[in-house]
Amino acid sequence: MQFSGRKKKQISSSQSDLYDHCLQFYGQPPLDNISLIEFETFAVERLKLLKTVENLGVSYVKTTDQYIKKLEAEFSSLNFPFRAELDDRKVPGGTSEYEKRRKDHISHFILRLAYCQTEDLRRWFIQQEMDLFRYRFGILPSKHKTEFLNKNNLKYETVSAEEKKNLKDKLINSSYGLSGITLEEYEFYRVPFQDALDLVRTRKVYLLAGSAYIPQHEIITIVLNDYRTRLSKALAMTARSLPAVQSDERLQPLLSHLSHAYVGQDYSIQKNVGKISLEQIDSLSGKSFPLCMRHLHKALRENHHLRHGGRMQYGLFLKGIGLTLEQAMQFWRSEFVKGKVDADKMTARSLPAVQSDERLQPLLSHLSHAYVGQDYSIQKNVGKISLEQIDSLSGKSFPLCMRHLHKALRENHHLRHGGRMQYGLFLKGIGLTLEQAMQFWRSEFVKGKVDADKFDKAYAYSIRHMFGKEGKRTDYTPYSCMKVILSNPPSQGDYHGCPFRHSDPELLKQKLQSYKIAPSGINQILELVKGMHYQLACQKYFELTHSVEDAGFSLNHPNQYFTESQKLLGGGQGIKKEVEMSQKSQENPPSASRPSQANPIQAQEEMGDLDSFFQDE
Ligand code: SF4
Repeated sequence: MQFSGRKKKQISSSQSDLYDHCLQFYGQPPLDNISLIEFETFAVERLKLLKTVENLGVSYVKTTDQYIKKLEAEFSSLNFPFRAELDDRKVPGGTSEYEKRRKDHISHFILRLAYCQTEDLRRWFIQQEMDLFRYRFGILPSKHKTEFLNKNNLKYETVSAEEKKNLKDKLINSSYGLSGITLEEYEFYRVPFQDALDLVRTRKVYLLAGSAYIPQHEIITIVLNDYRTRLSKALAMTARSLPAVQSDERLQPLLSHLSHAYVGQDYSIQKNVGKISLEQIDSLSGKSFPLCMRHLHKALRENHHLRHGGRMQYGLFLKGIGLTLEQAMQFWRSEFVKGKVDADKMTARSLPAVQSDERLQPLLSHLSHAYVGQDYSIQKNVGKISLEQIDSLSGKSFPLCMRHLHKALRENHHLRHGGRMQYGLFLKGIGLTLEQAMQFWRSEFVKGKVDADKFDKAYAYSIRHMFGKEGKRTDYTPYSCMKVILSNPPSQGDYHGCPFRHSDPELLKQKLQSYKIAPSGINQILELVKGMHYQLACQKYFELTHSVEDAGFSLNHPNQYFTESQKLLGGGQGIKKEVEMSQKSQENPPSASRPSQANPIQAQEEMGDLDSFFQDE
């Protein structure tokens, strides 16, 4: 699938071949261009359909008229194909059958991406898709069923009229719902018995010489088995290729939220604002509240208090049924002050009501860890750093988080999304141009499992995005320490995050030992980590690696660490020299006796004239 910013539709002949039947096994991925709006709409609408399939499956027997009618209504309201006899000629002005089939096809593949990620998600998706398929196959006229089977190479051998006559009694006795009269009109298929184990297990078919004789109404069981096998394999394959898709920042948030997305009515739009008075709440809670809210209301009235989870759940519900902010304040205040909370404390306790205001909530929730230091998105040193310098700079002037990411990248020739973002923006902040960044990431990735073509397709976009050349064209700011420490903790296989916050203390100790930090220094760092003073631990690491008693600044940004380090090491006065040296060193490999890390004095001699580039204004 290609994702374009604008809506483009091309009907290639191979695509239209795919849609010559209203049902398919989704063997081929879509090759169409698809806009991001369509991507999201298709995904949400199929999710709605599958949720309906799930709900109806729980509430009704799947073969009943009610089940079929309700599902049919959902199909037509969401514009998915379900009646093969409908075609473009029969629905003038409506969505064409081709468009419906295309949507069916593409939306199935989008949900595959969202639901291949865990075993539970896969199980849920397969179950709903199978029920959906069972329904759609079940309502097909037999002519279309046969067409479908032939199209998908499910050519089951039909039993001849003569054989049916010879086996008449046996077939009637072993197949459910048949009589001697109907047998003549009924098709029977002969399939290897191992393909019909479900039917054999439930004794629904006649067995002879390793073959099962399947009456036409039971063939769906065989087709579904086939579909289940194909779908399980396809999901496993999709899971393997997921990292490439997830590296697309436009799709990643959508895919990761889709599996637990709420696709019902939007209750954040309050229709009854101010229509409910506080006096009504007691009576409404008994008559019209669901059990969860009734329970919360009772607990609040009895204890004059609810803890955070309860306040959030109940407070937002009350907002949704129509309470205004003023009413909510009054409601919570009057109840809480009957308990142990005085009016002052209520300011803190009334937070749910304030937080339910969408204008304030994002501001309030981010304010506590907002970064208010220097803006490192404004690059002062653009193009002043060469790619050859990065290895050496990573040892001298990178904070531990970036040194760790750089090492992982050099060793694995790959970083996952979180690492690419954290490290990519840092590098941008220290002065890499877009062209340099492209060259840097491409040259490293192609040493691993990614070829240049794949890199251009899967990763180049996100790098341009970082530099504000794609998407919303936001010039992204390098992450501050608080952002690294508080959001998106690394999981297995990730290298991003703050080593002082996210590493196991034993691993951190080993890492610091490998970087030649003295044991007493390591103990000091670990003590600070134990007290959860991660930035102070990082500052201590700075002091120890730069041989200074006092860093002389208060650390709150990895790029600040870099800038301060460069100032201390002589303002980058040797950068130019270093390039020359690194070029020379390629000609003359360094001698074993040469220290791997320069001390500040050595560095000062080596550094050139970058002082001005790394000065704070
Ligand atoms: Fe990086 Fe900040 Fe953690 Fe230091 S404290 S390692 S600069 S995130």
